[in-house]
Amino acid sequence: MPQEKQILELPDFLTVRELADLMGESPIEVMKELISNGIMASINQQIDFDTAAIVADSMGYEARPMRAEEEEESTDEAAAPQWRTFYSEEDPSKLKPRPPVVAMLGHVDHGKTSLLDRIRQTDVQAQEAGGITQHIGAYQVTHNGQVITFLDTPGHEAFTAIRARGAQGADVAVLVVAADDGVMPTTREAWAHIRAAGVPVVVALNKIDRPNANPERVKQQLDEELGLKPDEWGGDTLVVAVSAKTGEGIEDLLEAILLAAAETDIRANPDAPAAGTVLEGRMDNRLGPVATLLVQNGTLRTGDVVVAGVTHGRIKRMFDEWGKVVREAPPSKPVSVMGLSEPPHAGDMFEVVKNIKIARIITEQRRLEREDARVKPQAPSLEDVFERFQAGEAKELRLIIKVDADGSLEPVVNSVEGIEVSDLNVRVLHADVGEITENDVNLASASGAVIIGFNVKPDPAAARVAESLGVDIRTYNIIYKLIESVELALQGMLEPEYEDKRIGVAEVRQIFRVPRIGNVAGVQVIDGVARRNAKVRVWRGREILAEGASVSSLKRFNEDVREVRTGFECGVGLDGFQDFKVGDKLEFYVRERAN
Ligand code: GDP
Repeated sequence: MPQEKQILELPDFLTVRELADLMGESPIEVMKELISNGIMASINQQIDFDTAAIVADSMGYEARPMRAEEEEESTDEAAAPQWRTFYSEEDPSKLKPRPPVVAMLGHVDHGKTSLLDRIRQTDVQAQEAGGITQHIGAYQVTHNGQVITFLDTPGHEAFTAIRARGAQGADVAVLVVAADDGVMPTTREAWAHIRAAGVPVVVALNKIDRPNANPERVKQQLDEELGLKPDEWGGDTLVVAVSAKTGEGIEDLLEAILLAAAETDIRANPDAPAAGTVLEGRMDNRLGPVATLLVQNGTLRTGDVVVAGVTHGRIKRMFDEWGKVVREAPPSKPVSVMGLSEPPHAGDMFEVVKNIKIARIITEQRRLEREDARVKPQAPSLEDVFERFQAGEAKELRLIIKVDADGSLEPVVNSVEGIEVSDLNVRVLHADVGEITENDVNLASASGAVIIGFNVKPDPAAARVAESLGVDIRTYNIIYKLIESVELALQGMLEPEYEDKRIGVAEVRQIFRVPRIGNVAGVQVIDGVARRNAKVRVWRGREILAEGASVSSLKRFNEDVREVRTGFECGVGLDGFQDFKVGDKLEFYVRERAN
């Protein structure tokens, strides 16, 4: 007799974590099950009832729809199909070709903005129709009857901001390199972003009108420094010489973009409810919240109810890049919309839902998830790399490497790339000389990579962003330690290391005897801060009398306080140590993860 399955009542949609909790399983197990069914879902992602039922079934449960009265807020029945279209694969027979979405990346001043302006001017047809250019974050042009969408915010910040939130913003990237200046640090960085996104690239060799332009030298740099061999040299990179100033080569560039786009299958289902990415969100004094949305699937219509990030609303009006009112936006079309309750953030995903009630439930849930995510960052750390391999979420360890000097770049990259444990690989997304910067952190966050520094540290901005995004930064000064860490991570044997960081020192000035409690030290903080939740080391001269003591009380004028700064006096009681003497030093320290 087969064993009877336990009944599990499930709502129309729930997060992976909620499903795991209901079954008493780890979310990793649930994610593995989803992956084996071809669905990549993160812990906080919503899945619909049908998907959840399949997972539940293979984990020994029989799923039943939750009865309406048991749900906190019932959603009407027609809502379910809406969800299915977002989280399950589109039916391939419904997919139709859509215009490619193109991003411009490259070093500052190499001409991204000028090229975008020049390309926009080529669309005479649209201009003749009487529109006035509106910068809404993207625009479309028609070349030989084919439409191309350009993202109008040049630079990889926008490109990466979109990717950092998990969306694929562009289908083709144009790497702009000035022919009179050549490959520069940001060119390398931009190339790393493009490679990480896995989109085809076209190189625009700009400013060829300049007398000192040297396209041949730059092609050589592209080949030697970035591994981008021009097609005319037998490679597979389309390199087009252009001038944003004279307009030379612009047609060829558009042609090359369409060729590169043809390499990938760029399709969408125009009949689905719309979904896509927020390109811009702003508060307009007159119009209220305005957002530019890039439709990536489905068709967006006036009157649709949209959830965008953590805001929602019914679309009242839509404009195109010429300021003209439109009522429909098919896939790859950017539109400026009015009707959302607040401006969404650039890079947020948006989707059309059945009604305002559902929109409200989703945004509320997302707000909670966002708060949750702030506490528990989702980016991988070197320790959970192995777990991710096991969960089938990753097949390779992605690294960004920064080193202190040219001479160490090659040895570090070569030794790291040579590491292979079972069939797990290391892939270096970007390697360069210099401090770890905010851009490195954004790239790491967008691509699920870990940053490795060899004799370099993150700059303050990078450290701050890494902390908020949960990006793991490891620094080493001995190469074999670095390699050892990576190997251990691949084997799932890496333990986090901790180091003590001193936050302040206080000197004992008096000793008080408190009934029932014992001795409390009256101290003055002479450096940094004394903190309630820190550990304390007690020094008498060069001798350590106590180590790792917890602070049992920290008071100023009989008030309990959290911390006391340099120059102030306070009373300190320690767990397990009372033999203070005037002149003892109390060193306050906290335990932090090293490496
Ligand atoms: P971005 O920082 O990459 O967006 O670069 P910009 O488009 O702002 O261009 C930087 C400077 O280079 C501006 O002064 C432009 O006028 C100039 N520039 C851009 N493209 C060309 C070009 O094809 N030829 C020449 N001569 N100057 C150009």
